[in-house]
Amino acid sequence: GGNVAENAGGPRCLKYGVTREYVLGLETVIKEGKVIRTGSQVLKDVAGYDITKLLVGSEGTLGLFTEITLKLIPKPKARMTALATFDNLETVGKAVSKILTSGIFPSALEFMDRDAIRAVEDFKPVGLPKDAEALLLVEVDGHPNAVKEEIAEVGRILQQLGAKVQVAKSEEEAQKLWTARKNLGPALGNLKTGKINEDIVFPRIYLPEALPKLREIAKKYGLLMVVFGHIGDGNLHVNFLYDKSNREEEEKAERAVDEVFELALSYHGSITGEHGVGLTKRKFLKWQFGETGYEILKGIKKLFDPKNLFNPGKVIEF
Ligand SMILES: Cc1cc2nc3c(=O)[nH]c(=O)nc-3n(C[C@H](O)[C@H](O)[C@H](O)COP(=O)(O)OP(=O)(O)OC[C@H]3O[C@@H](n4cnc5c(N)ncnc54)[C@H](O)[C@@H]3O)c2cc1C
Repeated sequence: GGNVAENAGGPRCLKYGVTREYVLGLETVIKEGKVIRTGSQVLKDVAGYDITKLLVGSEGTLGLFTEITLKLIPKPKARMTALATFDNLETVGKAVSKILTSGIFPSALEFMDRDAIRAVEDFKPVGLPKDAEALLLVEVDGHPNAVKEEIAEVGRILQQLGAKVQVAKSEEEAQKLWTARKNLGPALGNLKTGKINEDIVFPRIYLPEALPKLREIAKKYGLLMVVFGHIGDGNLHVNFLYDKSNREEEEKAERAVDEVFELALSYHGSITGEHGVGLTKRKFLKWQFGETGYEILKGIKKLFDPKNLFNPGKVIEF
């Protein structure tokens, strides 16, 4: 229920999509205990408005799911991972575009900036170069023969752009590379006592421009900022770190976050790709939807839950 309500996603959404892509139908309890069945068990269904898609990602604010019908797919037979390190940030955005327009469809394309690399290496070293400006982790999956060819092609593309590339030779080596990405959460906890972690999304075409602009925001406020995330789908986790006992620094982090959202929206992006709106991003939802769009959201909430009983106070100011 939680995964569907949050429309959860992760690194492999680049190829496989978010939870919403897999929900074919729902049984949901809404206002006055009424039960609605939406969607069906078929792959094509254009009957009426797509209420199933509306309910997925509604953060528990429209109703309670009591039955979920999911589409399942087989697991891929093979996976391979490559690590590429860069000495400048602009090239990373270009590399993402080059890979995604090459005809190869990676299962994951993850990004870590300079400070993310340093944080992980200081926490539990896996041998990443601490002088690199950024890195990309690229995973391809599918038939074993195709996977070998594709990872070699990805390596060639990245090398042509000046990146240093290492292809994991075994599953164990690949896991070691992914450990760096997975250790980021605890590694950041080691740097400062406070953290604001946002997950904005940019249209991928603007990444070469937007990445340096994020750095400018951090510089303007004199804050330590760590950026990592699912760059293949333009979804970046922007973390501002501050000392919890320093109210001035915390306020700076809050102002910097406002600017980060403004930046994402100025590029026709989104304020959140995974974390959802909840309480803390309610104000920014209005920025993204505009006045009329926000009224529509409120109208939907009222239609499903006029007494504001489902997860009250979240997403919409009622
Ligand atoms: C450490 C951590 C890491 C995370 N990483 C990611 C990530 O990488 N990507 C990502 O997308 N998300 C991430 N999340 C958020 C994630 O989407 C949700 O926490 C998770 O999917 C919710 O599942 P849950 O079973 O824990 O739900 P819960 O926490 O129980 O519920 C979450 C919400 O769903 C609603 N809900 C629960 N059950 C139902 C139901 N049956 N019907 C209607 N509404 C319901 C609740 O009202 C609540 O608002 C992370 C969260 C944490 C704590």
